[in-house]
Amino acid sequence: MESIQAVRGMNDILPDQVGWWQEVENAAREVLENFGYREIRTPVLEKLELFARSIGESTDIVEKEMYAFEDRNGERLALRPEATASIVRSYVQHGLHADSAVRKLYEIGPMFRHERPQKGRYRQFHQIDAEVFGIDSPMIDAEMMHMLRVFLDRIGISGVVLNINTLGCPECRKTYREILKDFLTAKGDQFCPDCLRRRETNPLRVFDCKVERCQALLESAPMLIDHIDEECRAHFDAVKDYLEKLGTRYVVNPRIVRGLDYYMRTTFEVITDRLGSQNAIGGGGRYNGLVRDLGGADVPAVGFAIGMERLIMLLQQEQSEKVRMPRFFVAGLGEQPRAAAFLLVQQLRGLGLEAEMDYEGRSLKSQMRRADKSGARYVIILGEDEMSRREIQLRDMQTKTQRILPLDNVEDELKQLRD
Ligand code: AMP
Repeated sequence: MESIQAVRGMNDILPDQVGWWQEVENAAREVLENFGYREIRTPVLEKLELFARSIGESTDIVEKEMYAFEDRNGERLALRPEATASIVRSYVQHGLHADSAVRKLYEIGPMFRHERPQKGRYRQFHQIDAEVFGIDSPMIDAEMMHMLRVFLDRIGISGVVLNINTLGCPECRKTYREILKDFLTAKGDQFCPDCLRRRETNPLRVFDCKVERCQALLESAPMLIDHIDEECRAHFDAVKDYLEKLGTRYVVNPRIVRGLDYYMRTTFEVITDRLGSQNAIGGGGRYNGLVRDLGGADVPAVGFAIGMERLIMLLQQEQSEKVRMPRFFVAGLGEQPRAAAFLLVQQLRGLGLEAEMDYEGRSLKSQMRRADKSGARYVIILGEDEMSRREIQLRDMQTKTQRILPLDNVEDELKQLRD
């Protein structure tokens, strides 16, 4: 019978890969919690309206990429394409601002976008997402980017550049939208049909266009950063100043407009030159109006998301394999020794030492082959002779040396071999 394949663009993370994922997740949790963030876990399925209202009706994500459908009750739902909207929904729904004016939250999990799959771009992908509610100060924008850098340093990623920009406030944007529209109109139909449509619906989106000709035409476009008001400029200057004080290097890139409507003032992206066209590792920004737009109080907020697949691809380029291996392999030869090996394996695990065995009672030769393949550092051999003398043979696979230990009270000796 023909076998069933996974859905296109959705990947299994196999055991020989999962070590990378665990390492990245563990480091993220440690760094985020050190900066005062607490974990939140929201459902992967939400009401479609949540994303339409927050990300924006005329964005690529909502227009083209959402996994949206009606459930059996005719309710319109969508798999989350990103985490911010869900976290804001949860924050408002549970009145999280009530017991603490400031909330720092993070979420790690899968996101879904119906994009054309290619290297570094999938239909199910994973993000580490961090959000802060209740702080308007530019200090927190800078701290977030600094934290991102600490995290990347921690897992050993180098050669990425922090690009920052400001989108001003909705007022600045209103003025700028008209200036940009005039520019686009002057260039007429030299732009692609998508951009011509964007000119009418959401002109700022033209900067996201992947068509080279459009990008070339935009070289001479007026920039939002040159049309922001005094307050927004002061906020941006302060962000840059704090980044400098923290020693976090950045470049100002006026083209970082991000693909979502809710951003204002600070936006940023972490970019690498090592992954081809899918060059963004993560990004984020400030979204002060969103909590209010989703029915909450007027709470300022800022957040970012990092893509884990791209992060791990980078790590794999820089480091060698990371396969998890048991510390011990216990080989029991014969009926009785195998039962003793079974108990010894449980005993080792009880001590927090990872141990494996051959459950099927194969020959010494094939058990040694399995032990070797498992990558275990130590092999314990238990045969009939050893059993009668109440001994074990302990073989160090690295140094190729062997010694004999008494079977009773062997725990103390083995505990020494923890690392
Ligand atoms: P965004 O909110 O779209 O900027 O996404 C934040 C990060 O998530 C990006 O910088 C990527 O690292 C990652 N990401 C977004 N979309 C995808 C995708 N389709 N496949 C893999 N990673 C993605």
